[in-house]
Amino acid sequence: MYVILLGPPGVGKGTQGVLLAEAFGWERVVTGDLLRQARADETEIGREAQRYMDAGELVPDQVVVELVAEKLKPLPADCGVLFDGYPRNAAQASALAEILEELGRAIDQVVVLTADDQILVERIAGRRSCVSCGAVFNVFVDPSESGELCDRCNSPLHHRPDDQEDTVRHRLDVYREQTQPLIAFYEQSSVEVHSLDGSLGVDQVQDAVRNALGVGSAAR
Ligand code: AMP
Repeated sequence: MYVILLGPPGVGKGTQGVLLAEAFGWERVVTGDLLRQARADETEIGREAQRYMDAGELVPDQVVVELVAEKLKPLPADCGVLFDGYPRNAAQASALAEILEELGRAIDQVVVLTADDQILVERIAGRRSCVSCGAVFNVFVDPSESGELCDRCNSPLHHRPDDQEDTVRHRLDVYREQTQPLIAFYEQSSVEVHSLDGSLGVDQVQDAVRNALGVGSAAR
């Protein structure tokens, strides 16, 4: 199954994606993580992406599309894939459709998570993510038990520089202008679109996502 997780920064796409990937063995394609990795590795792409990311702007499409294509091509055809943070605009959505068509695949479903800006800003300011496994915690509502380390793999937790409040507000504007219109785009296509309340607790949202996708519940 190929699923796009759509929604503003802080709505819980990462948290929900990690839970789904662990439960069902799906692969995650998370362009924000791919770009952060490229920065950490100090590659050409990483250097190019840096100033856009720090300003809360979208990195140029061709850079991101290339990363996604590279990630998708080696995956076995029967492996489920979750897209998180991609596509972010109409050009990226078209590019994704083309890449998938070449591979004989297609997007099956889109899950849209929503929440009020106030909740999103609070969540992001408290967000800490694991540098190793990608697990996401929140110092206010869902702290890791060990404080600065990941409960799952014991690696250090990281507070992203673009998670500062004014950058977050700008990222929300960018989301509304460029990414939100994709909801209508997918609604008008043959893809099933599910709109869910992302302001609920992590487990409630996870149940709702699984129900929407028709994948049932898994032990967790
Ligand atoms: P995220 O972790 O998804 O919030 O992404 C963090 C930052 O990485 C964004 O604010 C953008 O600067 C950049 N980024 C991530 N995904 C994309 C994308 N699909 N297109 C353009 N820029 C992206």
